[in-house]
Order: sequence, then structure tokens, then C-alpha cells
Amino acid sequence: MILAWLKQQRRRRLRARPFPKDWLKLVERHVVFFHKLNGSDRAELLGHIQVFLAEKRFEGCGGLVINNEIRVTIAAQACLLLLHRKTDYFPRLLTILVYPLTYMVQEDHQVGEHVWQEGTVSRLGETGRRMGSLVLSWGAVKHGAADPSDGKNVVLHEFAHQLDYENYAADGVPGLATQEEQLTWSEVMGTEFESLRAADETGIPTLLDTYGAIDPAEFFAVSVEAFFEQPRALRGRHPKLYAELQKYFQQDPVEYSAER
Ligand SMILES: [Zn+2]
Repeated sequence: MILAWLKQQRRRRLRARPFPKDWLKLVERHVVFFHKLNGSDRAELLGHIQVFLAEKRFEGCGGLVINNEIRVTIAAQACLLLLHRKTDYFPRLLTILVYPLTYMVQEDHQVGEHVWQEGTVSRLGETGRRMGSLVLSWGAVKHGAADPSDGKNVVLHEFAHQLDYENYAADGVPGLATQEEQLTWSEVMGTEFESLRAADETGIPTLLDTYGAIDPAEFFAVSVEAFFEQPRALRGRHPKLYAELQKYFQQDPVEYSAER
């Protein structure tokens, strides 16, 4: 308990530190809706960024040298997911590995019922419940920041997975306070997930990335991308899903998003 108290104290001090001017320029450049947030949200976000950058380790891979632009851009987008909520700052995550562009991984693909094909595939980001780390392509991060309303953002996606792990399971259900909340969440997300699957199978165009039809964990991650990047469209087409996410994140991105 004393450790938890010390941690809170340290974080309070970090949040209160003056925010470096050159970092602020980076936030303004890479979080295009930053100026639309109200004053207290802006201050809260900057405070979270200070804690995040003090606690997480960044490692450059594939020849990439980590600089403040990379650190601040990733931190700012990730910390948007923490606004207004009691948070432990992605507690399962220690290290963020950043590659210059896409990176290749060995992966087995199932091509038939009992047939697996081995091969290398390129990826833009990944994380796992037991990894303790999160991998990002700096190219994809910049791309996601440059177009904040196309519904695609690898940072929001991967950090949404981290929120999902807060209650120890990768099941598309983040830590919710009450059983009643869990019940409503499962009901709404379950229905929406099934309808995305059905649309994916029949080829009906969808607002949500059909990558989310893979499983409930991916469904949650792509929903989070749409929630922050295309909130108006999401609210119009999936009002119940939007309401659930709004309740969980305790914010309404319609008010500040860059969506046209
Ligand atoms: Zn994912």
C-alpha cells in the first residue's frame, strides 16, 4: 500500500512539471485536434504524457534512433485513451519498440482445414497480453497522425489492446467497475461483433474495419479507432456501440474530432 501511495505521489509530481515547450509543439503538430480540447482536457493530457514518458521505455529497432518526436507523438495519442478516467497508465506495458516502416514477422497462415503455411508477413504494430511490450512502425504512426479521421490509427489500436488486458484477459472487455456494466458491455459488443462478422461474410460495406471481425479483442480495438477518428459516423450508424464506448472513455470525441 505504501508503494502504491509513493507511486501516486510520484505521478502527481510528474503531472505538475512544466511541460517542455518543444514537446508542446510536437503535440500540436501531431495531435491536430489538440487545440479543440478544452483547457482542462489539454492540461490533463499533457500531465498524462509526462507520466507516460517517465515510466515507459522506448527502443528503436531496425536502425531507428528514438527521438522526442517519436516519443511525444506516440505518448500523446496513447494518453488520449486515459482522459477523464482513473488510470494506472497501461500497467502491463513496459517497453515500446519502434521500427522505421513496416517490420516482418514469421507467421503461420492457415490455408486449409489442416494446412498451415509458414511465411513472413509485414506488420504495422502489435502487442500481446504477456508481451510486456508493444511494437509500432513509426511510418504507420505518422500516417495515422496525419489523417486523424480515416478511422485508422495504429497507436489507438494497439493501446486499446492494452486497456483490454487490464483485467487480465484479451477478450475485448476492458476493466469495468460493476457486473451490470460488464453485462451491458457484453450484450452490446456481442451484437455489434456478430453484425460485423455477418457483413464481412456477405461483403456488405461497413464503417468499422472488418479486421475487427477476427475476434472480440480486435473488434474492441477497431471500434476504439472509429470512436476517436469517426465519432459522428459511428454514433449515427452504431448508436449503442458509441454510447458504450462513450460511457467507458467518459468523453465525447464528436466535440473535438477532426472528422468532417
Ligand atoms: Zn489488434
